[in-house]
Amino acid sequence: SSNKKLTLTHRILIGMVSGILLGTVLQMLSGSSLFIQHYLIDGLFHIGGSIFVASLKMLVVPLVFVSLVCGVSSMKDTARLGRLGGKTLLLYLVTTAIAISLAMAVALLIRPGTGMELAADVTFNAKEAPSLSQVVIDLFPSNPIESMAKGNMLQIIVFSLLFGISLAITGDAGKRVASFFQDLNEVIMKLVTLLMNVAPYGVFCLLAKLFYQMGFDAIASLFSYFMVVLSVLLIHALVVYPLILRTLGGLNPFIFLRKMREAIVFAFSTASSNATIPVTMETATHKLGVRNSTASFTVPLGATINMDGTSIMQGVATIFIATVYGIDLSAGDFLMVIVTATLASVGTAGVPGVGLITLAMVLQQVGLPVEGIALIIGVDRLLDMVRTAVNITGDSMVTTVVAKSEGDLDLEVYNNKDAGLKDE
Ligand code: ASP
Repeated sequence: SSNKKLTLTHRILIGMVSGILLGTVLQMLSGSSLFIQHYLIDGLFHIGGSIFVASLKMLVVPLVFVSLVCGVSSMKDTARLGRLGGKTLLLYLVTTAIAISLAMAVALLIRPGTGMELAADVTFNAKEAPSLSQVVIDLFPSNPIESMAKGNMLQIIVFSLLFGISLAITGDAGKRVASFFQDLNEVIMKLVTLLMNVAPYGVFCLLAKLFYQMGFDAIASLFSYFMVVLSVLLIHALVVYPLILRTLGGLNPFIFLRKMREAIVFAFSTASSNATIPVTMETATHKLGVRNSTASFTVPLGATINMDGTSIMQGVATIFIATVYGIDLSAGDFLMVIVTATLASVGTAGVPGVGLITLAMVLQQVGLPVEGIALIIGVDRLLDMVRTAVNITGDSMVTTVVAKSEGDLDLEVYNNKDAGLKDE
């Protein structure tokens, strides 16, 4: 068939575009069509999309646990682990701080929200955001099975690190178990590849449903806010990341962005960095050429603690809400926003909509009304999709740069434009 000529990347992109188009067209057509609503949206697309997301999520915990155990146990010296962790953490925090500073600078310049009438009855019930000390305590699982059952990424990472380290120093028994884990890792990665092959259909279903349900009316009234967030997201992904890749890694950024396409589509359609972990991992190892010992650690860590796109939304939202409520922020407040938003992302998982919860924390910190969130909630889903794509692009960028500096990047794979996902 003619499908043979299309690479998987192309088929996924086609799934994305046709899903978006169909969803949009159906929305315009539907009126009160029971058929569209009942059989297509709530039927076919809902089922297809949900199964797709569920199967992605299904892989996350086993993949992170097994690949991280492999990665750590294969490390020659444990001092490297500390260095790797230090560099990664530093870059994750610095890129997030850059992201939110950039967002606030642009927002201050354009001042979205100026002249907007304040709707009288906005309400938003903020969920509790975790305190910083609780975040630190919660790093350590009291029951690793529970952590896995709940998908608590940081706890899984800590357990896998400790488990991997002890494998590496247990001698023969450790070697046997480690080689079992290597085999298991291959099997799980194969499962990821299998799943990727049905991704075009999954992405199609998800996006058709989402765009059918998307309320574009809200975008019109929040146009300036929406556009500022979107532009800063694009600047960050297309200018800031390439600059860092070039200067810190000496790498060609065009190759990087090209190879990120699939992962970006996954992040965009699921709005979840966590659910995208299998694809980000596959991209980092097979397409970008990062060795598993680095990627298995930095990718899941990034999905949890590194959210540049989210912090961009928060920077713009803070200024927007302050403007609408007519509240002046001081220079100290701005600094407070940067610090809070950067740290707030550490303790929260990369799942849809979590950015709004940490935004509540940021607003509280500088004394802005948390109900202000209700103002922007109408356009948040679409922005969530885009910022999640930025989040995982940031994770992969840092992963690549750190790997390069650790001699853990295979340049031949990185520069080979055909490396990576093969149709199977
Ligand atoms: N959905 C985003 C993520 O998973 C987080 C957010 O901004 O809400 O990375």
